[in-house]
Amino acid sequence: MGIKDDVIARLASVPGPDGATPLARSPALSDVVVTGDKVYVSIAVDPARADAMEPMRQAAEAAARSVPGVAAALVTLTSDRPAGAGSPGPRAPGPKAQGAQTRLPVEGVRHIVAVASGKGGVGKSTTAINLALGLKASGWRVGVLDADVFGPSLPRLLAIAGRPELMPDKRMAPIEAFGLKTMSIGFLVDEDAAVVWRGPMVMAAIRQMLRDVAWGELDVLVVDMPPGTGDAQLTLAQSVALAGAVVVSTPQDLALIDARRGISMFEKVGVPILGIVENMSYFVCPACGTRSDVFGHGGARHDAERLGVRFLGEIPLAMAIRETSDAGTPIVATDPDGPHGLAYAALAAKVRASLEGLGPTGGPRIIFD
Ligand code: ADP
Repeated sequence: MGIKDDVIARLASVPGPDGATPLARSPALSDVVVTGDKVYVSIAVDPARADAMEPMRQAAEAAARSVPGVAAALVTLTSDRPAGAGSPGPRAPGPKAQGAQTRLPVEGVRHIVAVASGKGGVGKSTTAINLALGLKASGWRVGVLDADVFGPSLPRLLAIAGRPELMPDKRMAPIEAFGLKTMSIGFLVDEDAAVVWRGPMVMAAIRQMLRDVAWGELDVLVVDMPPGTGDAQLTLAQSVALAGAVVVSTPQDLALIDARRGISMFEKVGVPILGIVENMSYFVCPACGTRSDVFGHGGARHDAERLGVRFLGEIPLAMAIRETSDAGTPIVATDPDGPHGLAYAALAAKVRASLEGLGPTGGPRIIFD
């Protein structure tokens, strides 16, 4: 029996949300994911009863943690309906694809970093571009690959309308903007062209953007991943020589559950997690300067600490970030010394430090603030 089976066995002694059916057999149990010595469990509950369900959550956490070999257990309540709710037993975690595969390095590129999120709309692309600009400002040579073939955002984020030039050797020249070398499927395909991507096509397109682009010498290539944790994302995480991954989450619980899926996806394929960024973390009123924790801020920091994943910082929900990001004038390029520019610079400094090996990923946690 593996850890997962042991956890499920212990969850048989904890009554589920209906107060009777053991969690192990409850359709509310949606996920038991084990990565190394960490266990993630989520339980679907009626959001109105979330408070009343807290003792059950704690009991489940204690039960999971009591399994030998488990260092940390995180049980969350979600209003997510598990896939096939009503079917007995938990859903099998994640796609099976694992194991050794050749990882694609990119010639001349020292580090490849993925910026990922468990779901769309959390500000992954905005974070990726401002992180890239922060790394650039720190003196590094930086490239950005928009691997979000489903919804490429580089053309919008950097207001790029042109097409990449073909070089004599048939490779594409990256498009330069704000001192970054960039490539996106959005530069090649018309925005309105409906492209139906199938798994293998996604990888073929990304492989081409990695190999057939003259990236030149780069200290870091930031890869804006497609949102989510499906097969395409897993294949990408598995087949590109990633030095590490930065996971972007919003403070809402559901996004955090998605973020945890993102984390376990990378852990499964042996890519170090550089840390979690909490985006749209809090709101500072532009008129009065009052800070409001609109979404119950702090969730990402808390979870990161409990799981031993580094917390990389929080980026506020700010009109200026949205406006600059949607206007193609990212805030780190246009207002580097403003409070938001500085928040991204701090994030970039942490990412650079981990890449330079100053803080071992997965080792002792380093608190930066
Ligand atoms: P994703 O890549 O996760 O889909 P985007 O980066 O495209 O997300 O962001 C989604 C929307 O949220 C965009 O309109 C963007 O301008 C906005 N946004 C992202 N981060 C912030 C922030 N910190 N404050 C305000 N708006 C933001």
